[in-house]
Amino acid sequence: MEALAAAKGVKTVLRRLIGYAEKVFQLSTRVLQRVTDNRSLPRIPTASIVKAVLALYWSRLGSLNALEMTQAAKFWNLWLDHSLCSADSVGRIVAGLEATALRQGIHHVYERLKRNKALLGFQGLGVAVLDGHETSASYRRCCSGCLQRTLSSGQIQFYHRNVTLLLLCAAPAGRPAVRLLLDLEPQRAGEAELTTALRLLTRVLATYPRAFDVLLADAYYGVAPFLNLLLSQGKHALVVLKDERRGPYQDAAGLWTVLPPQLGSYKQRHCRWWDVPDLRSWPGVHGVLRVVRSEECWTVKPQLTKQATSQTTNWVWLTTCSPAQVRTEQIVRLAHLRWDIENHGFNELVNGWHADHLYRHQSQAVECFLLLAFLAYNLFHAFFALNLKPELRRDRTMAFLTELMAAELHALPRFSRFTAPP
Ligand SMILES: [Zn+2]
Repeated sequence: MEALAAAKGVKTVLRRLIGYAEKVFQLSTRVLQRVTDNRSLPRIPTASIVKAVLALYWSRLGSLNALEMTQAAKFWNLWLDHSLCSADSVGRIVAGLEATALRQGIHHVYERLKRNKALLGFQGLGVAVLDGHETSASYRRCCSGCLQRTLSSGQIQFYHRNVTLLLLCAAPAGRPAVRLLLDLEPQRAGEAELTTALRLLTRVLATYPRAFDVLLADAYYGVAPFLNLLLSQGKHALVVLKDERRGPYQDAAGLWTVLPPQLGSYKQRHCRWWDVPDLRSWPGVHGVLRVVRSEECWTVKPQLTKQATSQTTNWVWLTTCSPAQVRTEQIVRLAHLRWDIENHGFNELVNGWHADHLYRHQSQAVECFLLLAFLAYNLFHAFFALNLKPELRRDRTMAFLTELMAAELHALPRFSRFTAPP
């Protein structure tokens, strides 16, 4: 590592990121060296495999073969102290990694950032989002972790699903928000997503007892077992409420017609809010519920017609937070944050980081590759938001930094460069 830090010339982005991770998180000693795998006499150190996969994600190479193509890069000898092993070895060893140690590594990064006061809440509230995601689909191959469905064509499709938890943080003026993917749980064959989510939540509440106060989720999670698990741990839920047949929805809807709304705003939208607390009509829920409705109006001017037209949308949310704990306006702002997991969490991982790629189709490998993607994502986002100087962030987008990191992995030692034809 010292050799890498002391390498001559301008420090590249990848080296700066690694230098930052070593300085702030002691990446080598506190994370990498604690990961083990199931080999009895490992010839290749486990830490080298973890490093290779982190670099694979940071540079968004997209496949183990693309990683293998960078074997000649001088970067590898500097970081690993030996050359990069084959694509097959990386896949095989990741499939035997100890997932618990990877989760502990992710927790260590969280704990350091928390101690450094880098994880800001929203007006004193810690907020997280929970959501289920499909990661990979295939018609040809399946593994012990595959779920399957029959399409209308009669064809059987195999896929993997995970429930994921993303910690959201507020952004102070002048710097981006830090977002941390804390954990995931694979959905098992034959079980409902709710069962997977409760298993994930039980583990996260034990491991991260003070990470969040309010958990955001979609309408699927407006059910007693989910709400009760959170309430039993002193946490709150804020979920979309869609089902118009359900008790609290009907109770609140009866009052919308007679209660005067509060007037407010969200971003550029004019809002009318109805806030109905003290609802007790949800069977099986061990607490008082509250329904908040936000009618939001704004004007759009399509480029083509240039004619301003007004748009209206209605949102209804169910929460266990009391009005004394969280005001109406804050409920609306927090509820809209749910889209963060769509835009910045899992979608960014899938579209930008190739996290849904099947690097090796084996259930343990799928889980470990995703946990490594979470670790890479968290380290990169902390580096981008907290370490990179504002002027560098302004001029260089995340995509540009990624290209610089990929370029570094493709940089070959001097002697192996082709000489230009005369
Ligand atoms: Zn599978």
